[in-house]
Amino acid sequence: MADLAMLVANIAARAATATDRGRVADYIPELAKVSAGHFGIAVVTAAGEEFAAGDADMRFSIQSVSKVFALVEASCRHGDAVWTMVGREPSGSAFNSIIQLELEGGRPRNPFINAGAIAVCDLIAQGKDSAEAIAAIMARIRDLAGDDSIDIDPAVAWSESVTGFRNAALANYMRSFGVIAGPVDATLSVYFQQCAIAMSCRQLARAGRFLALGGVAPDTGLPVISAERTRRINALMLTCGHYDASGDFAFRVGLPAKSGVGGGILAIAPGRASIAVWSPGLSPQGNSLLGTRALEQLAQATGWSVFNPDV
Ligand code: GLN
Repeated sequence: MADLAMLVANIAARAATATDRGRVADYIPELAKVSAGHFGIAVVTAAGEEFAAGDADMRFSIQSVSKVFALVEASCRHGDAVWTMVGREPSGSAFNSIIQLELEGGRPRNPFINAGAIAVCDLIAQGKDSAEAIAAIMARIRDLAGDDSIDIDPAVAWSESVTGFRNAALANYMRSFGVIAGPVDATLSVYFQQCAIAMSCRQLARAGRFLALGGVAPDTGLPVISAERTRRINALMLTCGHYDASGDFAFRVGLPAKSGVGGGILAIAPGRASIAVWSPGLSPQGNSLLGTRALEQLAQATGWSVFNPDV
């Protein structure tokens, strides 16, 4: 296997000189303020070794990467009942698409598109107010990362809440079918805040490490979730983690991964490592352009892939 420290440094050096960097998301005004010039990468191996380069310690808006942690939280609380409200099929549509909801009785295709994640937030908020629900998600992420300093960026949360008309449409539409049970405003408040969590690549890679370890928390040796649920979450990350570019991502990288419009991607090499990359410029489908390229380079050099029998 390649020397990881050198490999990670080389990937960051290549990203630093890239001229085609994609477009920073601007439909959430606060995200448009971030420079496309950033790139960070952090690899935390299953054994706990860390390799980082570039802006690996700079915090960014994790956006839809948070959907993984919210799904973990909802699975811990509700088990398989999650799947009565949300499906497990790739959508083949944009992350904020509404079209399938009407055709499919208001049930979102999967928990990693906006509609599905909003339904997951609604489940977490059952029997709670929105402050308690977001506190539960934050506690989960801080615990997984081993870092109490992780927090929500209030400017991003505000920016999302005053411009999130499409998410409001998705939530209201699902509420009309009874897929969302609670008050729409409270559910959306949880969703907007969860998207606005700010983390660095290093924090994100640490938080995802249990997914590379069959669901076991590395510090305690205790299961965060069962090995079976971990396998299923990884399967969903692979099939649905990049919206309508999930097939292309599997083709190029071959690892379970979840992207966000802040430009972050969390990727899992089961049994090997948890990897986080960040570069704010996006592809037309809303996935980090240089982040995807970096993961492709890493997967090629290490051989890490769920489709590779030799690793
Ligand atoms: N907060 C963003 C939204 O709701 C999340 C989308 C994303 O990261 N793909 O549109």
